[in-house]
Amino acid sequence: MKVAIMGAGIGGLALAQGLLAAGVEVAVYERDPSPQYRKQGYRIHISQVGEAALAAVLPDAVRRRVIATATRPGDLVAGFDDQLTPQFEEVYPVAGPDMVTSVDRYAFRRALMTGLDDVLRFGKQFTSYAETRDGVEIAFADGTSVFADVLVGADGVGSRVRGQLVPSMEVVDIGVRCIYGKVPLTPAVRELAPPAFLRGFCFASDGAGIGSAFAPVIFREPPAEYGDYLMAVLTGTNERLGVSDDELFSMSPSELWGNVAGLVDSWHPAIGALIAAAEVEAAFPITLRTCIDVPTWSSERVTMLGDAVHPMTPAAGAGANTALWDAARLTQALVSGEGPAAYQREMVANGQAMVTESLQNAERMFNVSISAGTPAHRSTAPA
Ligand SMILES: Cc1cc2nc3c(=O)[nH]c(=O)nc-3n(C[C@H](O)[C@H](O)[C@H](O)COP(=O)(O)OP(=O)(O)OC[C@H]3O[C@@H](n4cnc5c(N)ncnc54)[C@H](O)[C@@H]3O)c2cc1C
Repeated sequence: MKVAIMGAGIGGLALAQGLLAAGVEVAVYERDPSPQYRKQGYRIHISQVGEAALAAVLPDAVRRRVIATATRPGDLVAGFDDQLTPQFEEVYPVAGPDMVTSVDRYAFRRALMTGLDDVLRFGKQFTSYAETRDGVEIAFADGTSVFADVLVGADGVGSRVRGQLVPSMEVVDIGVRCIYGKVPLTPAVRELAPPAFLRGFCFASDGAGIGSAFAPVIFREPPAEYGDYLMAVLTGTNERLGVSDDELFSMSPSELWGNVAGLVDSWHPAIGALIAAAEVEAAFPITLRTCIDVPTWSSERVTMLGDAVHPMTPAAGAGANTALWDAARLTQALVSGEGPAAYQREMVANGQAMVTESLQNAERMFNVSISAGTPAHRSTAPA
């Protein structure tokens, strides 16, 4: 059996690892020209579901690489108002040295690529497929094509595989924009950061529609390209951010970050000082999008995983973990001979539960009402 995976994101790479370890012929086709092309690191929380999936699919050497390049576990989730008055606090036991509780997306993808040199093909943008009696013919933007027994769309929230397989599926723009930034953890920043910000995931909000989140990315072993940082995110509607989408998405990183600084200038001075210490060039905006209903389809040869099939907001911290769950379950279904249909049934049920949880959390967190009928109009996800 030959499996062709479109997209070397988190789910596609985990699936490739699982299939390769089981002796299945696999190739991964990624539109980016190289693994270093996208360095947008942001912190991803890995849940027990994600960890179990990683343990199921990764060979030992790769799992050790993932553990070594993960971030040091925190012990806190806390909320504050904009003057840093504590609103709530939950303290957790610190996870052990072999556990992965959060990762930097760039470092995580690099670790997941360990041992995949012969199966990864960069600069290959999937455009379309045609099912034949014997398999699937897959076409790329460079005019080339390949043949496989099974095609897996792991091509993220803007999936072209989904566009062809279930063109009617709707992806909704929830009307919330995020501006992500990185504050390098220099000794001066460690000094000025509120101690809670260095312990775990912290939210602060002005109670009037602008929210922020801070979380430390302190590596066990940093990537060659950068070191420890504090992830800093500002969220709000266009109205509250004071900029239209056209303005937001055409801003330079320094304009974006200048906007963030302006929005928090009446907040506690420690927040302003952290924003001022950020690496301005690392700022980027994203649109939060979700599906409402996870689709079903009837093809036995074409399937999907992760954000391609169940895009969700980050409000449940579950997108990557669900993509990893998918990868582990699809590996099992393909290796055991159950086939993609058995995977699809369970994936739809599991994916729907996570989408619904993230929708409910997003409505509460961002004070928005989310329904079908507002199709996403931009493709800005840092995939
Ligand atoms: C800022 C932010 C914070 C997040 N935090 C969390 C968190 O804490 N916990 C969590 O579980 N999730 C989190 N998520 C969600 C998580 O990042 C995604 O759900 C996850 O990356 C989805 O994995 P995936 O493999 O489906 O897709 P992706 O990782 O998006 O990968 C898709 C890949 O497909 C490639 N591709 C796209 N189109 C094509 C094409 N036509 N041909 C070939 N290749 C293509 C892309 O370049 C990319 O490499 C967060 C997301 C964001 C944006």
